[in-house]
Amino acid sequence: MTDKHPIVRDLVIANRILANESIVDAYGHVSIRHPDKPNRFFLARSLAPELVDQGDIIEFTLEGEPVNDERPPYLERFIHGAIYEARPDVNAVVHNHSPSVLPFGVIKQKLKPLHHMCGCMGHEVPTWDSQTKFGDTSLLVSSIDMGRDLAKLLGDRPAALMRGHGCVIASKDIREAVYIAYYLELAAKLQMQAMPLGSVKYLTEGEIDKVINRTGPYTLDRA
Ligand SMILES: [Zn+2]
Repeated sequence: MTDKHPIVRDLVIANRILANESIVDAYGHVSIRHPDKPNRFFLARSLAPELVDQGDIIEFTLEGEPVNDERPPYLERFIHGAIYEARPDVNAVVHNHSPSVLPFGVIKQKLKPLHHMCGCMGHEVPTWDSQTKFGDTSLLVSSIDMGRDLAKLLGDRPAALMRGHGCVIASKDIREAVYIAYYLELAAKLQMQAMPLGSVKYLTEGEIDKVINRTGPYTLDRA
């Protein structure tokens, strides 16, 4: 067991839910900003999310340095630190490679919500291409510079895709981050099912704004 902040329990539950829903497999991760130290965040050591327990959680600086912990961290921890650095409003970040979102990272057609539960992902989901600034890489976000470039593309949105890799979700709340990650995967699946059938009527921007504004504790408590 750890003597870290009680909120790490929520982070462990988030890991387990995302694994149970196949949003993460052996890879992908979820973090939470330290509630008392805004320039720190909690993230598991390098471990499959399904196996994460409270003792596996490490505290990190926003530059991705572990605080007093020698265990191997996730290589892509820079995604989390860079987003917390750029977005004071964000308290939880999910990075995953869920299968239905991946095609939308490599085609021109944008991923857009067509179903009300998926409106939480925003008007449309932009794609970050590591190739643009960093050329040929392993596609992994392996430095704080890459993390900052991704955070810049994300801007003030809740989600972004990563070309040839996966996606990232940012939220004020750990429960909402898990919720968006789940519905982003469903949105992509639904869009792939709808597109071959004909012209798709997506939610309007006004509808999406209304969905986002009413997604609060009432919705999240139930989920
Ligand atoms: Zn990844």
